[in-house]
Amino acid sequence: MAQRHLRAVADGDLNPLDIGLRDVVGTSARILERARGIRTVGQLLDWLPRTYLDPTRPTAFRDLPHGEDVVVVGTVRAATTHQMRNRRGRRLVVEVADDAGGTIELTFFKPFGHQERLRPGVRVVCSGQVGVWRETLQLTHPDYATLGEDGEGGAQWLLDGLVPVYTATKGLSPIVHGQCLELVLHHVEQLRDPVPEEVRREVGLPGLLEAYRLVHRPRTEAEHRHGRWRLKFTEAFTVQAQLARVRRSAEAVPASPRVPAVDGLGTRLRHRLPFELTEGQETVLAELLDDLARTVPMHRLLQGEVGSGKTVLALLAMLAVVDSGGQAALLAPTEVLAAQHHRSMSQMLGPIAEAGLLGGLAEGTRISLLTGSQSTAERRTSLLAAASGEAGIVIGTHALIQEHVQFADLAMVVVDEQHRFGVEQRDALRAKAPGGTAPHVLVMTATPIPRTVAMTVYGDMEISTLRELPGGRRPIHTFVVDGQRPDWVRRTWERVAEEVRGGGQVYVVCPRIGDVDDPDLPGTGGAGPGLPTGAGSGGATGDDGADLLGAPDVPGAVPPALHGVHQVARCLRGLAATSDLTIEILHGRMPAEEKDAVMVAFAAGRVDVVVSTTVIEVGVDVPDATTMVLLDADRFGISQLHQLRGRVGRGGRPGLALLLTQGEGVDPAAVERLERVAATTDGFELARLDLESRREGDVLGASQSGGRSGLRFLRLARDEDLIVQAHEAAWRTVEADPELERHPELLEALTRLDAARAAFLERG
Ligand code: ADP
Ligand code: MG
Repeated sequence: MAQRHLRAVADGDLNPLDIGLRDVVGTSARILERARGIRTVGQLLDWLPRTYLDPTRPTAFRDLPHGEDVVVVGTVRAATTHQMRNRRGRRLVVEVADDAGGTIELTFFKPFGHQERLRPGVRVVCSGQVGVWRETLQLTHPDYATLGEDGEGGAQWLLDGLVPVYTATKGLSPIVHGQCLELVLHHVEQLRDPVPEEVRREVGLPGLLEAYRLVHRPRTEAEHRHGRWRLKFTEAFTVQAQLARVRRSAEAVPASPRVPAVDGLGTRLRHRLPFELTEGQETVLAELLDDLARTVPMHRLLQGEVGSGKTVLALLAMLAVVDSGGQAALLAPTEVLAAQHHRSMSQMLGPIAEAGLLGGLAEGTRISLLTGSQSTAERRTSLLAAASGEAGIVIGTHALIQEHVQFADLAMVVVDEQHRFGVEQRDALRAKAPGGTAPHVLVMTATPIPRTVAMTVYGDMEISTLRELPGGRRPIHTFVVDGQRPDWVRRTWERVAEEVRGGGQVYVVCPRIGDVDDPDLPGTGGAGPGLPTGAGSGGATGDDGADLLGAPDVPGAVPPALHGVHQVARCLRGLAATSDLTIEILHGRMPAEEKDAVMVAFAAGRVDVVVSTTVIEVGVDVPDATTMVLLDADRFGISQLHQLRGRVGRGGRPGLALLLTQGEGVDPAAVERLERVAATTDGFELARLDLESRREGDVLGASQSGGRSGLRFLRLARDEDLIVQAHEAAWRTVEADPELERHPELLEALTRLDAARAAFLERG
């Protein structure tokens, strides 16, 4: 290693992980950089093997997959050179046998030097692509290294244990890669370990460098598992320590404790409610009131499915705040939802929210609405009510966050459906609390979050969960409809018409918007949307179907055969079964006022069918919406399907969800996913399934508000115990040493994590 680097590392100026590879492995560094963009020691170490081969077990050459890159170990049996018939030169053929007696031939068209090294009896490790020639397995010009008593070839490391296999990379020989790792593992003497010694001892962790050795150079299966576990632990520990610090800084500013009056407004509301709170609701309410009574600001996530009764609890908590003389703000993601909350809360509260009005409760409060589309006069009234403190509860969209909105004494902020809100927006609202205090924050979400995701993404928050739906809710029946069966598809649209005749309303959800002038569906006048729309379907445009295809929204991301909103609405208007229904469209590219107008008309029952994209996903409540038809349902994720169907059956009548599969080329695994969605309405079960079927990047990317990315080793679906353990250790560490004065290595790792996250956010 270059002297200056040694010194920098020794002086503590340079993290060994940041050492440039050129200083350790010489010219091979260029190959690593070109092939994989790997430039530092840390990057090389973090690229873990995909799998391992055990050379002591027969490799069974005859089972090698043809055409794939393999690493094999065997013994040279014979080496012969042949004069080539058709051209000048000689060919070296080396016969290598595995322990099971299978053989493979190594072929070299430039034999120079190889023959001397590949003498009979020599053990050899080779890598290359398996080919077959005249019924013999072959590797042509393989990379190889010989293994011998004399340790020739720098491949001694292959002798002792398992052979690590990395994702094949063009331009990078596995043997060169292995030798580079070998150099790194021998030259780096110590790594800075973010996990403190006492935690390592307590949990039984190997050192960090040792862990990399175990992963890259294991002797046994148990060793590489142990090493990998350690790397995961490091990752989980670092993430948890960061969350613990975020949490601490949120707690640094005190909140004013809010204790509800005995027989206060909350009690009055409970007397008014036509139902009793469920046991689960009581538990969560107690958690909320408990938080509010403390000087540490509440920072809590309330999760529960649509209809689980979160809103009522938020309202009771807000009343506790009002009781104590403070104000509460509720932030909704859209105007429609804000208005809906305002309407339903006003209704629930009745005279409690009519203080000063005739018939209102004298000691009650007022509830006001603040949105961008209000008239100037309405806005002025609301602003005044917020600033004077007359309104105990203020409901609004992001308009609430604007600078000129003032509160007399903002004590609590409730954020509904947090996915649509960024951290900055939440912080802006916080800044509206009286000087020197922070408001209590309650975030509500209808997306069930598996425990490990909650701990990793929302780990700085306390979590309350409502697991059951209150009694009286009707279940949603879900059926998978085969889009290739015209009779089933026809039946679907007849069912839609029947539903409307019976007083219900229907959502039809499409995976894309499409263009206004998208060509008609081939099924028009027949069975309707749901039939194959793509190539080879025998559609209206002849044999290749290419002119059927509107430009997909994202080139390459969406197969062009997917149903578009415009196309489907037009088709349903022309379809015999549905032609006399009132059909409107709704999608994200419409102006906000138009969207709202459609939703308002739908909510008022003036529209029978809304054909939309997934914009209706968030908590819109239309009690008479009984049915949802999802087109190309196999294109939606599990959680999304569950979320979407939660829009129907919100009134007294049971909901019906019909999941139509794509006409053609449906992935059987996708259909099985749909069947599982149809089989259960347990959101947590489905969230777990969803997590298993996705990569971590998606999980974290989807929860953009947290933006906590960059998990390299952890698998949230599988590593629950480890995450819990890391969580406990990390929170304890931060608790004991909040500034991490005694843990500079951890502090440095957190800085690196912040940088990685910033980079991720810029990309996202
Ligand atoms: P969420 O906000 O979780 O979607 P809501 O609070 O809007 O759920 O509740 C859904 C419906 O169920 C509302 O009409 C509400 O009045 C009603 N509800 C809430 N709690 C109960 C309960 N314990 N028993 C019966 N109905 C309830
Ligand atoms: Mg709700």
